[in-house]
Amino acid sequence: MTRKDEIREKAIRDLQQYEVLMLNGHFDFGNGFHGTLYLNPHQLFRYPSTIWRFAQDLLDVLPASIVEATEVVTGPVTGGALLAHTIAGLLDSRRAITGTPTMFAPFMVDAYRGPGLSRFYRQQIAGKHVLIVDDVRNTGQTLARCGTIVRSAGGKVIATAELYDRMEATTDAGAPNFALAEYRAPENYAAGACPLCKAGVPVTTF
Ligand SMILES: [Zn+2]
Repeated sequence: MTRKDEIREKAIRDLQQYEVLMLNGHFDFGNGFHGTLYLNPHQLFRYPSTIWRFAQDLLDVLPASIVEATEVVTGPVTGGALLAHTIAGLLDSRRAITGTPTMFAPFMVDAYRGPGLSRFYRQQIAGKHVLIVDDVRNTGQTLARCGTIVRSAGGKVIATAELYDRMEATTDAGAPNFALAEYRAPENYAAGACPLCKAGVPVTTF
């Protein structure tokens, strides 16, 4: 097992310890479905030290070529932007102090139009090598949209990365993607046909 495999395996355990990822429960999602897996990204950001730890681990599993080439780290508000800000800072702590500092750029997210980048940041990333990050990858559409915007602003998307990949992505940002942890949720059940309810397993509360 390589060191990167060890880091990724430990990340799954750490996500559970910090209650970001809850497995083997009986969750009522409030939308008519029950299931055994619950993901709570808010737990990543409640204590800043938590995201610093996971960001270090994500940097450790990224290829050295990506780490070296990154000039801007960007991500969608809120989780992706907090992670991007942390990673941009951590990157410089691993580089020569004489180098150009790594830049951070947040994507603002509109409920209807999705992620967008302000004119200031569009100008900042023109001609730069950009790493796009997010806390969780679901369908991949958010990262893909961010990638399109980076390119339209003249930036080059060198990779996307996330702390947790649900392994349900149907699209990508046209660049290699790297996940610290990946885990596919087992199927959910309609509340009326939930085998856990039938077996009398109490609904998990937390
Ligand atoms: Zn149930």
